[in-house]
Amino acid sequence: MRFVSTRGGSSLGFIDSFLEGLAPDGGLYVPQQIPVIDKEKLDGWRTLSFQELAFEVLRLFVDGEIVDHDLEELIHTSFSTFTDDEVVPIKMVRENLAILELFHGPTYAFKDIALQFIGNLYAYIAKRKQEVIHILAATSGDTGAAAIYGVKGKPAISIAVLYPSGMVSRVQELQMTTVLDDNVLTLAVDGNFDDCQRIVKQLFSDEALKKPLSLRAVNSINFVRIIVQMVYYIYAYGKMRADGYNGPISFSVPTGNFGNIFSAYLAKRMGLPIASLLLATNSNDILTRFIDTGIYEPKDFAMTYSPAMDIQVASNFERYLYYLFDENVNQVKTIMEQFAATGRITVGDVLLSEVQKDFLSYSIDDENCVRTMKTYNEEYGYVLDPHTACGIAAFEKARTKETKPALWLCLSTAHPAKFSQAMAAAGTVPPMPESISSLMNEKQKVETIPCDAQAVALRLTRFFEVDHSQ
Ligand SMILES: *Cc1c(COP(=O)(O)O)cnc(C)c1O
Repeated sequence: MRFVSTRGGSSLGFIDSFLEGLAPDGGLYVPQQIPVIDKEKLDGWRTLSFQELAFEVLRLFVDGEIVDHDLEELIHTSFSTFTDDEVVPIKMVRENLAILELFHGPTYAFKDIALQFIGNLYAYIAKRKQEVIHILAATSGDTGAAAIYGVKGKPAISIAVLYPSGMVSRVQELQMTTVLDDNVLTLAVDGNFDDCQRIVKQLFSDEALKKPLSLRAVNSINFVRIIVQMVYYIYAYGKMRADGYNGPISFSVPTGNFGNIFSAYLAKRMGLPIASLLLATNSNDILTRFIDTGIYEPKDFAMTYSPAMDIQVASNFERYLYYLFDENVNQVKTIMEQFAATGRITVGDVLLSEVQKDFLSYSIDDENCVRTMKTYNEEYGYVLDPHTACGIAAFEKARTKETKPALWLCLSTAHPAKFSQAMAAAGTVPPMPESISSLMNEKQKVETIPCDAQAVALRLTRFFEVDHSQ
């Protein structure tokens, strides 16, 4: 299968587009043709384990570039570190509401699902190509931790992670800074997540730097993340059908960078019959405003109880525009250039009604988030993390407008123990996994850096020049 840039510039195979990350023209890779999963195939997949299903889904995109046996092994290794046999267990919480728990990986957030696989895939490619691979990532907290765990200690790959200093939770920071392996560099940037993301994008588009350092991406600009995340939507759907539920199924997704929910959107385009797709934001509500008004425009950045969603510029949004514009790359290119120049994207009424068919959306403020955490703990005995609570609160709003009641699957994107500040505000005490509490006593390696692409570039050059493969 070929992958093309949303701005039309290039087309590459699976491994090359995976390695490339951002396309040279600044666009993002998307599959040239979306594979179709028909009803028969979906029915056949109902009984598969998560790993077996991941194999079937990935195979459609890998398209023979990795032999089946190796792909199976990569998948099995990647999910062997998850603590739940089902990988992504589903818990019925109340009538018509199930929670799809995506936090049973080594760093307790849904990012583990794609990133444990991606870490192993980089190691596999490094070995196959006899190349050294350098990974660069920006994180609002969870991506960095998951990517570091996916890479640490592996031969021929190393990783540098930028996170916004003082803006990630204590546990997130500890997960990143207590990893002392030589092939891991963690930098606390004096700025917010959008700054980190901007610096990373800048370094990736700087050919004078990207090529000599052979920088690779793990952020959701990397299409493989989107593909792996599709698996749990298809899996959850199949489970519900296998359990005998035949009505409509809707998903609620706490959203920041538009990565997770874009996976759902793509799964739907491939043929997964999703009734409604609900996009939940916190008070950083650029996506909700877009869905309401057709205007995409960053506003003031707010710090909330759900820091992984404290994002103004959603990097995957361009992929959605590509489909919204019917794969017209010139239109995407023009509008992204306009956005770079004016800081604003506007779509007209016809397209807006398309958008509103694709997504429902609500923005959830901190007060509602905390109230939802409290209520679900008291009434249903379920401890929500603050991101998941935004998704649940949005579901509560959406269901009052539903004409035909659906079964809702709300995605739980993190373990509550990662976010003690929000827990304290909600007065709930989450169960504390031993591997989280033990972090408090471990040695930390913290390095700060100014919010400046040049300073970061210099530091990265020093780090990546050293061969960490020994
Ligand atoms: C990353 C993250 C999100 C947002 O996911 P996107 O793919 O960026 O939309 C939500 N919740 C948690 C806990 C996260 O780590």
